[in-house]
Amino acid sequence: MTLFPDAVRGMLDSSIIGRAQKNEILEINTHNIRDYAFNKHKSVDDTPYGGGMGMLMATDPIYECYKAILSTVPSDAKTRVIYMSPKGRVLTQTRAKELCEYDDIIILCGHYEGIDQRIIDEIVDEEISIGDYVLSGGELPACVLVDCISRMVEGVLPDAQCYEDESISAGLLEYPQYTRPYEFMGKKVPDVLISGNHAKIAEWRHERSLELTRERRPDMYEEYIKNNPPKEKKKR
Ligand code: SAM
Repeated sequence: MTLFPDAVRGMLDSSIIGRAQKNEILEINTHNIRDYAFNKHKSVDDTPYGGGMGMLMATDPIYECYKAILSTVPSDAKTRVIYMSPKGRVLTQTRAKELCEYDDIIILCGHYEGIDQRIIDEIVDEEISIGDYVLSGGELPACVLVDCISRMVEGVLPDAQCYEDESISAGLLEYPQYTRPYEFMGKKVPDVLISGNHAKIAEWRHERSLELTRERRPDMYEEYIKNNPPKEKKKR
């Protein structure tokens, strides 16, 4: 549910998510909230009670839009309504993975100064933020959420390992990666990667991941070490 469906479509109809829709692995529908503004000027916003800056998205068009969507969702479908909001819980890979379990996810994108609280209380199950900063609309956050969930839906990527091995999913940041050419600006690919020794390559990658995570995300590193304490070397 958005006031700018074209912005969302432009983002989600290309690349991996676009292909997943063409292959009918996922279906992404956009609904223009303005189409459900049945007042004379088709307005979707109004000034806030109590005063203050800006405009708020009003209840009725959103509620009508929501009802129209619900009428297309099978009654036994497991459905979740999410409002993209800087006041929500910050999105994590773990939460995105949990959301894969829903058959239908209805995402509400706010604009202007936000949305009348009563519509949030009435229809929203959960508020999600994409980070501690404020954007002008919920469209980019919605695309972030859809992309993050979609790549973990079976069949979207060639193999679950594609996302399981990545930064964050594995509890660590990903190791550095290299492709051809072998030498660029005098810098060569690390020898171990062309050694053909898979055990050594895996060990090298794990060590680089640990190093990078310790340096850039000490919080994540601590959590990882707590759950995966280094094995003590056997005493002779
Ligand atoms: N007045 C609101 C507040 O202070 O919480 C901010 C409104 S913001 C300008 C307009 C819309 O952008 C919000 O309703 C929300 O849908 C979206 N938005 C902005 N920042 C966001 C974030 N970090 N995560 C998710 N959605 C966000």
